[in-house]
Amino acid sequence: MKYLFLLVPVLLASCASGLKTHTDVDAQKPKNIILMIGDGMGLSQISAGLYSKTTALHLEEFNVIGLHKSYPADKDLVTDSAAGATAFSCGCKTYNAAVGVKADTTPCKTILEFAEENGLATGLVATCSIEHATPASFVAHVKHRDKYEDIAAYFLKTDVDLLIGGGKKYFERRSSDSRNLSEELRKKGYEVTGSTENELKDYRFKERNTVFFTAEDHPLPADQGRDYLPLAGKIAPRFLKKKSDKGFFLMIEGSQIDWGGHAGKTDYIVSEMNDFDKTIGEVLEFARKDKQTLVIVTADHETGGFAILTGSTRGNIKGGFADIKDPKTDSYHHTGTLIPVFAYGPGAAQFAGIYENTAIFDKMKALFGF
Ligand code: MG
Ligand code: ZN
Repeated sequence: MKYLFLLVPVLLASCASGLKTHTDVDAQKPKNIILMIGDGMGLSQISAGLYSKTTALHLEEFNVIGLHKSYPADKDLVTDSAAGATAFSCGCKTYNAAVGVKADTTPCKTILEFAEENGLATGLVATCSIEHATPASFVAHVKHRDKYEDIAAYFLKTDVDLLIGGGKKYFERRSSDSRNLSEELRKKGYEVTGSTENELKDYRFKERNTVFFTAEDHPLPADQGRDYLPLAGKIAPRFLKKKSDKGFFLMIEGSQIDWGGHAGKTDYIVSEMNDFDKTIGEVLEFARKDKQTLVIVTADHETGGFAILTGSTRGNIKGGFADIKDPKTDSYHHTGTLIPVFAYGPGAAQFAGIYENTAIFDKMKALFGF
């Protein structure tokens, strides 16, 4: 009988190795963590953003910088965005296409779920559909990233306080069932609003949990007029701060830097990079005043084998792409290069050095004290 407790199965088990308790961690605990993910943002993408302007990037304001190893659980060293985001959300190396599940396909508990359980407010902001791999990996547990309608249903199982992104159609015009998830969320007390990004400027947020849709599916690229991410970066921390005295966890994704890489378009990369950096500026402004907020900026992987070629000048980047185009999709692949991590605020010192992508989860969890 006395060994019975060992047999109790743990649903949503964590596969974190855990960060050892460290006096620095105890002395420097943030109340809030904002994790910013520039999808596909390697060093060349950052460099292109930096040299495309005459003014400095907000990223240059960070003084704690580390590198993470982005590879997934597969033998292949190159990750996709689902496995990459699951490494951050759960601390698990998993297979490509896995959303919030371990390599054996069982669910893993995410940092957002830990935060909710501990009474913190939580939020997700993205410039893709909110059911897409990166944001999805913080709330959903599905075997494959393509299951957008299944992923949308997971938002009903969480108490996430704020969502801003595209993907309204997977809530309201579903083919796998006749549910209207927006209506179901309203019954749970949520505000569910928005159908285009333009409405965000004039929207007055209430104190209730809010889902703001910026598009039916994916929002536009920044160079075709999308400009809500910096605004969302300003709104979201202030909204979440009011929602809980215990603190908040917020993930903000610059989703389309990756798509510029897949398309092999330097201008697309640069405009998305600069839009993301502007958002970083808004978040840093909040964190500087708040003094209790840790800001972490990183990427899941690099996309395109992107390089800045000779002939480039300040303000005029001539980009090249590695010879890795997939003939089936006519799209450039991700690469397996080390990925930079920038940290600011209480606990930032923990992010110097070279470590696994999963260590970002371990460090956030330890700093929150979960
Ligand atoms: Mg993404
Ligand atoms: Zn990609």
